[in-house]
Amino acid sequence: MDWIPRTELGRQVAEGSITLDEIFDKGRKIKEAGIVDKLIPGLQSEIIFIGGSPGKGGGIKRTPTRRTVRMHRSGRRYRVSAMVIVGNGDGYIGLGKAVSTENRTAIEKATEVAKLNIMPVRRSCGSWECTCGEAHTVPVEIEGKNGSVRIRLLPAPKGVGLCMNKEAKKVMRLAGIKDIWSKRFGESRSRANYAMAIFDAFKKMNRMRLDARTSAKAEVDTKESEEE
Ligand SMILES: [Zn+2]
Repeated sequence: MDWIPRTELGRQVAEGSITLDEIFDKGRKIKEAGIVDKLIPGLQSEIIFIGGSPGKGGGIKRTPTRRTVRMHRSGRRYRVSAMVIVGNGDGYIGLGKAVSTENRTAIEKATEVAKLNIMPVRRSCGSWECTCGEAHTVPVEIEGKNGSVRIRLLPAPKGVGLCMNKEAKKVMRLAGIKDIWSKRFGESRSRANYAMAIFDAFKKMNRMRLDARTSAKAEVDTKESEEE
């Protein structure tokens, strides 16, 4: 790999003197995508289809990117926005958004941003109905929100699968969650808000103290709603 580190953290990663867990434990900020490529081999990406145009037989045809048009003195100006998630399918996931003038560059930029936003996903055997001991679901019931969309994720026993829409399934697959129950509230036609609400829930889980499982729900950091 011809990655040349540009930051101090990058150099530490390149020489192998820091691990991924240490980066998150110490709250170090990842500022170059090469760090993530190096530390998480086999990272996959998925595009969240945030665009839509009226379909032939009614309804909405989902498209990978959202195009907005703006009138300008010299004619129409197009802007293309994309949302990409990256993950290793085993406990690490990131989400990125970007805007550009064309599809390809919007997706590339969003992928890069997603890598910089990589974070661990808490998983466990979660449900009291399941005793398999594998990390296949979320450890606790948790709620996330974005805009008017609110989603509640609940631990599910093995075999339940992912009972949610296609875009949300992409998120769970890349996160390495195999079984989950979910409920959503509010305006849910926006796929972008929906995906971000799931990430909001993941972030809240990361801020919880999960050692005492029964009281975990009450221990969410109260400062959580200051972002966005
Ligand atoms: Zn289990």
